[in-house]
Amino acid sequence: MSAIAKHLLPDTAVIGADGVMSIGGCSLLDVAKQFGTPVFVYDEEHLRARCHEAVAAFGEQRVIYATKAFFTTAMAKLAHDEGLLLDVATGGELFVALHAGVPASSCVMHGNNKSVDELRMAIEAGVRHIVVDNFDELDRLDALHAQGLPAPRVQLRITPGVSVHTHEYIATGQNDSKFGFNLGNGDAHKAAARARASASVDFVGVHCHIGSNVFAVENFTHAAKIMVDLANELEVDELTLGGGLGVAYLEGEHASSITEWSVHLLAATQELRRTTKVFVEPGRSIVASAAVTLYQVGTIKPIPGVRTYVSVDGGMSDNPRPVMYGSGYEAFMPARANADRTEAIRMVGKHCESGDVLINEAMIPAGLQVGDLLATPVTGAYGHSMGSNYNKVTRPPVVFVRNGEARLVVRRETYEDLVRLDMA
Ligand SMILES: *Cc1c(COP(=O)(O)O)cnc(C)c1O
Repeated sequence: MSAIAKHLLPDTAVIGADGVMSIGGCSLLDVAKQFGTPVFVYDEEHLRARCHEAVAAFGEQRVIYATKAFFTTAMAKLAHDEGLLLDVATGGELFVALHAGVPASSCVMHGNNKSVDELRMAIEAGVRHIVVDNFDELDRLDALHAQGLPAPRVQLRITPGVSVHTHEYIATGQNDSKFGFNLGNGDAHKAAARARASASVDFVGVHCHIGSNVFAVENFTHAAKIMVDLANELEVDELTLGGGLGVAYLEGEHASSITEWSVHLLAATQELRRTTKVFVEPGRSIVASAAVTLYQVGTIKPIPGVRTYVSVDGGMSDNPRPVMYGSGYEAFMPARANADRTEAIRMVGKHCESGDVLINEAMIPAGLQVGDLLATPVTGAYGHSMGSNYNKVTRPPVVFVRNGEARLVVRRETYEDLVRLDMA
């Protein structure tokens, strides 16, 4: 197999005459030396370019970044700075957004089981709107209003009954889902009637999100048309079509750009009432290919006739996607980024589980040695944000690179951090 494909790399990735890859003008070898490994390296230009692309495609105040894909104070500031609103699904995500200085009026509150405290926090802070998921939540909003809180603007999350081609854990638009009011069984209409008649909410729109890492454009347009009909029927001012655009993780995969996605989505909303505003909530497509993770090789164990295991200094604690979804990744050597990748290895982590596999069969250049760096591209989404402390492995730092400068935006966890919550 040849060198790593360009479409899997951050926008500013370049390979020098010496074969060393740089991102944002920073040599990956220098970044590893300065910050240690493992480390998440994000191309700040790439992040900004994707935010910019989304706003150009869908309009100002119409793009809501799904923070769960990757969220830190720096990312909150960056997305806000680029004109995106923020989708937060817990009190914790709302806290980080507010901590970063993002006004609540730029935040949208999500979640299928918002607690009374989370709802109160969202209303008191003054979020732009709340996406109400179920009848119990409408009960809680009634109770909060009875306690004197103002009526928040709400959209209703609708389950349009659309099945998508993705992993079942991240398909969310089918009838058999924990999310939203089912359109098919009449719940959506019941919820709309209740919300409209209620003094405790200001019913402004409907929302759907059919799943994540979806490649088939027809899945999006199908759901969009169903939602357009509903929005027209209910005569609401706002329609949110969710996120979910797939990204390429492997050499052979190709995904639509945000611009291409917008062309299809907006075409599917042609019949929408002119006064209804359309929102989208991209997460993965903004951040996934902005980052690579750098690891150092610790052990190489060839088992003749079986395979070679290469252990790196991270694993399922910094990237649980392979374990959770069987997701595939590619690997490359930052020091020899042009080299043909001719050797098949299994890239594994340092956790005490045989399932701690990062890449089942990774192709890498011949001659890998203990101490070398390996990188996995397209690790900007659902890696850092889903990370854990399993085995008391300290979480890696996050570094933003841009114009030759490497900026530490999340420091590496320390051993002291591992006991900071222990009370006895
Ligand atoms: C996760 C999520 C998104 C973003 O999905 P991506 O696949 O990361 O684009 C958008 N909206 C809602 C409600 C979500 O739960």
